[in-house]
Amino acid sequence: MRKRLVMTTTLIIAAGFLAAFFLVALVVQQQYRQEFSKRLDAALAVMEAQSDDILEDPQRFAELLNGYLEDSGEDMRVTVLDPDGNVLGDSETEEGERENHLDRPEIQQALRTGRGYDIRESDSVGIPYFYAAVYLPGQGYLRAAMPFSVLNEVLSQMWLSMLACMALGIAAVYIACSINARKLMEPLAKLTSAARRIAGGDYSGRVEGKYKGEVGELAFSFNVMAKNTQQAMQNLQAKQQQLEGVLQGMDDGVIAVDERGRVLFLNQKARVLLGCRDLRAGLPMEGNLLVRRIARVMEDAMRRGEPLHEDVTSSNGEERQYTVYAAPVSGQKRVTALAVIADVTRMRRLEQMRSEFVANVTHELKTPLTSIRGSIELLKSADRDEETRRYFYDVLDIEAERLHHLIDDMLTLSQIENAKEDPTLVQCDAAEEIQKAVARLARVAESNQVAVRCSLEPGITVECSPQRLQQVIGNLVENAIKYNVPHGAVTVTAVRQRQMAVIRVADTGIGIAPEHIPRLFERFYRVDTSRSREIGGTGLGLSIVKHIAALYRGDVSVESAPGRGSTFTLRLPLAASEKSFEKPQEKSPDVPA
Ligand code: ADP
Repeated sequence: MRKRLVMTTTLIIAAGFLAAFFLVALVVQQQYRQEFSKRLDAALAVMEAQSDDILEDPQRFAELLNGYLEDSGEDMRVTVLDPDGNVLGDSETEEGERENHLDRPEIQQALRTGRGYDIRESDSVGIPYFYAAVYLPGQGYLRAAMPFSVLNEVLSQMWLSMLACMALGIAAVYIACSINARKLMEPLAKLTSAARRIAGGDYSGRVEGKYKGEVGELAFSFNVMAKNTQQAMQNLQAKQQQLEGVLQGMDDGVIAVDERGRVLFLNQKARVLLGCRDLRAGLPMEGNLLVRRIARVMEDAMRRGEPLHEDVTSSNGEERQYTVYAAPVSGQKRVTALAVIADVTRMRRLEQMRSEFVANVTHELKTPLTSIRGSIELLKSADRDEETRRYFYDVLDIEAERLHHLIDDMLTLSQIENAKEDPTLVQCDAAEEIQKAVARLARVAESNQVAVRCSLEPGITVECSPQRLQQVIGNLVENAIKYNVPHGAVTVTAVRQRQMAVIRVADTGIGIAPEHIPRLFERFYRVDTSRSREIGGTGLGLSIVKHIAALYRGDVSVESAPGRGSTFTLRLPLAASEKSFEKPQEKSPDVPA
């Protein structure tokens, strides 16, 4: 642009120079001609004054005058003609070579007006001349001529010097234009480079320097515009980051797709929920069955132009349930869709568990209550003998006791479930607490004809509530006794194993079929409901064991086979003071229950 500006300006100025030069040259040429004619006129006037002498000897006069003029630096041809145009005397030609000059334009004009002029190549001499002639009525013509080469020489010198001046002028103009253009273009160049930076995404581009006039105003406005754009972009980026942070931190999956079903955005949770870690922006919504189903829901939402709420179940391995909320998003030109996916498997499971729990509790409460009401009705309906009354009183006692147990167990469960941590944590000697729990069940063991033995490593310390530890052991040992066979045995062992206290309750009882084992620790789950009821079970014992173990960051597991007995293993972390050392296994002598 700068080059173009310099070139065009220089060319325009050069054209102006040339035009001015031609005009000046024409004027100068004209002035020279006038000057020539004045000089010829002056010579003719002198000749006219001496016309009488001239006519006496024209040839001598012509040569004489020519000689004078030559001496004074004037190269002038002098010709004398008679009235018929015959050359009487001429300073440049010899007598033999002279023609009649009457038809010459300057002679004809002089004949008509008294004085005539012409410029042409001489027929007699063969070079161009500037002629001036005067008519002396009755006497003839006097003619003076200056060779045109003199004028041409002057003019060509003038042309040459003017051309040289013009070249110098143009060079000077070019340099001045270049400097001026550089000055003029500097802010524009800066403006262009700043605009380029902004277009390339670097919004810090500014026009540096102070400029006056329109360029200054343009640079100022540009800088204000760039600053506003930069601020707007920063705000936009901050908002985008906030939004992205919110979306990435969401517990639900969020996906946006364009009208062709290509992913525009998806958060990390969406990848996890859909089980499609490779899915990312720019790829089509393809992959497993769940991805395709969600894509279809989004497509439907776009087609119908209204939000859709659908439940989607995926049975990839384990069954999981999702709710998909898909809504079309109308942009300026195109419609996209946004979907929020929530994994509701746990929620649904909890809902199901809650309703099952309510049904179970109702059922568990109803059974003893029905029995109590029945017994009371029978007692009230007629006079009963002492033995019958005692029987019903016993029934009432047993059912009330069962209710009491049930409510106790439910309260215990609810307390454990609500407690995130046990505030009554103390260092418990596992062997001591196990022996207390076992001792409390001595009567039950005796009545069931089951022998209980303990093999406990001494000094195992766990951090827990002693009552809760006794409750866990009590539940496991009681089950081992109750679901045993006459003359069966129960063995309780406690050892240290890799920073854990491992307590095992093994029995020689009826055992548990493998299909029951996965659900054994669920609330109210019983393998044999009637037998459990008969022996006063609530179906909550193992659930309490599981929850207490979890409360102390431990766990419980079972190994069993029908008819071969069961072994329940409770693992609790050793107390912090214990972890620093681990003694080799040491067995205490068997302790009878
Ligand atoms: P319950 O009060 O019925 O004993 P639990 O939760 O303690 O309830 O036990 C759940 C079920 O597990 C019992 O009904 C019983 O069928 C089975 N069970 C528990 N312990 C044993 C065991 N040692 N041997 C065989 N079956 C057992």
